[in-house]
Amino acid sequence: TVPVIAVDGPSGVGKGLVTRWLAQRLPGWHRLDSGALYRILALAAQRRHLDVRAAAAIARLAPALDIRFEGHTEDDERIVVDGQDWTHEVRKESTGALASVIAAVPEVRAALLQRQRDFRRRPGLIADGRDMGTVVFPDAVLKIFMDASAEERARRRLKQLSAKGIQATLAPLCEEIRARDERDRNRPIAPLKPADDAEVIDTTGLAPEAVKARVEALLQR
Ligand code: C5P
Repeated sequence: TVPVIAVDGPSGVGKGLVTRWLAQRLPGWHRLDSGALYRILALAAQRRHLDVRAAAAIARLAPALDIRFEGHTEDDERIVVDGQDWTHEVRKESTGALASVIAAVPEVRAALLQRQRDFRRRPGLIADGRDMGTVVFPDAVLKIFMDASAEERARRRLKQLSAKGIQATLAPLCEEIRARDERDRNRPIAPLKPADDAEVIDTTGLAPEAVKARVEALLQR
């Protein structure tokens, strides 16, 4: 069977950084950004004016969407859906919030399950999400659960935004992050939590290099 490394955790914790780094570190391995699939499905539903309660109709959209991930870094990333560039829309904070609403709908999660598993191809897969180790790839060879306080994640996000020249303030960012966490942790289906056999890394106060070193140590075992 094709090996999977599952990297789970709340929004803004640095999973993207770690999974992109792992994809460089492990030649040929594929990467699944499962959050992007939820974001894309949320946008597709919104464009069709589907209400979040129209669970079956939203779920039906999932298998039909032609989704392509291009580029390897955050900067050259391009997300193409049905031939159109959706990158900018997909990455908006409001899209993340919308995604977390539809992600609480069981039919939606069921519809995306196979699409996520289809990314499992040789030589291996690095999967980034909330339930990679608990639900989608319970047989992953390595499960990492990253965590950090909401304040810390909001401060990092603020830094990222200001590096892009985008003005923002800490308090509302922190509020958004908390609201999204709350939805992800408290939903009845696939709630955000570490798998029993996950390695938990609390990245609060850790520099990216220190996080890398912890992940590298786990790879060496
Ligand atoms: O990781 P990202 O911020 O792109 O995810 C957007 C939202 O999609 C999350 O807040 C979460 O509600 C949902 N999600 C999920 N399961 C995953 C990945 C994302 O429920 N595996």
